[in-house]
Amino acid sequence: MAVPKKKTSPSRRGMRRSHEALSAPAYAECGNCGELKRPHHVCSHCGHYDGREVIAAGKALKVAVRA
Ligand SMILES: [Zn+2]
Repeated sequence: MAVPKKKTSPSRRGMRRSHEALSAPAYAECGNCGELKRPHHVCSHCGHYDGREVIAAGKALKVAVRA
């Protein structure tokens, strides 16, 4: 098994961890219903994308999908 020759210094460890920060997820307002949605994704509230309805919105679909 490969074993490190030297102990990682606090500085090296910090440099490695400088890329590990999490960023907040991006959100955009839906052009149809105004609900917050992820950009470039179909709105989970009304099923619209790019100004048209691509997924039938409402409870009927959720019941149909889960059944
Ligand atoms: Zn919407």
